[in-house]
Amino acid sequence: MPIKYIEDNIREYEGKTCFLRIDLNEEKGEGEKSYRLKTALPTINFLLENKVKILIASHRGRYGKNPLSLKPFQKILEEKLDTPVKFIKEIPKDIKGTEEKVTLLENLRFHKGEEKNDSKFAKKLASLADFYINEAFPVTHRKNASVAKITRFLPSFGGLHLKKEVNNLDKIKESVEPPFTLILGGAKISDKLGVLDNLWEKIDNLALGGGPANTFLEAKGINTGESIKEKEMIKKIKKYVDSEKVNLPDDFKKENGQILDIGKETIKKYSEIIKNSKTIIWNGPMGLFEKEEFSEGTKEIWQAVIGNKESRTVIGGGETASALKLIPKINNYELPENIFLSTGGGAMLAYLANKKLPGIEYLKKHE
Ligand code: ADP
Ligand code: MG
Repeated sequence: MPIKYIEDNIREYEGKTCFLRIDLNEEKGEGEKSYRLKTALPTINFLLENKVKILIASHRGRYGKNPLSLKPFQKILEEKLDTPVKFIKEIPKDIKGTEEKVTLLENLRFHKGEEKNDSKFAKKLASLADFYINEAFPVTHRKNASVAKITRFLPSFGGLHLKKEVNNLDKIKESVEPPFTLILGGAKISDKLGVLDNLWEKIDNLALGGGPANTFLEAKGINTGESIKEKEMIKKIKKYVDSEKVNLPDDFKKENGQILDIGKETIKKYSEIIKNSKTIIWNGPMGLFEKEEFSEGTKEIWQAVIGNKESRTVIGGGETASALKLIPKINNYELPENIFLSTGGGAMLAYLANKKLPGIEYLKKHE
């Protein structure tokens, strides 16, 4: 069954109430500058144009760890939408009868049922609306009540941006023009191994930075000291480390015995590979880019990727996207047309690894 998208089905829902799941989870305080928020706005505006009442819901932070309030997004949404937004802390009994066009519900992860994919909780959420839209691609790999179970109780659709995610990722999965370069950086190789396993045969170059690079270096017997890595993953990557496809950093920026960025020679080497690629997938910053002195690697990789107008390029990851702020000429994530910036990190990786994503699969099951 194909996914049903709201674009093609809005007629039936004019004047009705929508439970709209979006993703406002950005722990590092992007707020109004959040890419995930930006990509949800077209769906919200589309619903408003069609006189739909909207209940917006999201998570932010982790249950039991640091769930954060969504209250700051009330004002941000009001400014972006130019419409009053009501903020509610508790899950109400009814919302269809209210005057408000847009209501923002407090963090779903304040409730235990959300991450448990609890039926009762999902039913309670569903009772508030006439239909459901998923515009939260970054959480589609999570079996959460507002992503998965809720679709049992309401007619369910993908949002405008979710459609772009699925189409762009499907396209790059189906056909890859060589040379194909996969760039992996960020924190953990364990998060990214599924993609590597799935795409390995098609890859011409694997360019590594961050924790994944350190783990590969360790697998080759090179001591990376206190740098981030996952020694327990060495066994799983052994089969790849000696391949000619693998490109590792030759020089680094370090502090207190930790590798915190790739060095100038590596930047040059990786930029050349990127320049000559016809297909690129990138996830994970090259270093601790949040600190200016370790941001150059990530910044230069962004420059190189933006500079290649001839390749089909897919980039994803919360931090990878937020590192775009290092490139002043790119305003509001407006990238060249050949680049698709996915909102997903884990979800993008899972999708590209051919895993079934509950939030996508559930959208396909129609009664
Ligand atoms: P994304 O969110 O884009 O998917 P990850 O979550 O995998 O990326 O990892 C991003 C984080 O990895 C960033 O916060 C960055 O600071 C960190 N990082 C990358 N390289 C290093 C490094 N060498 N040392 C410490 N942290 C690093
Ligand atoms: Mg991340």
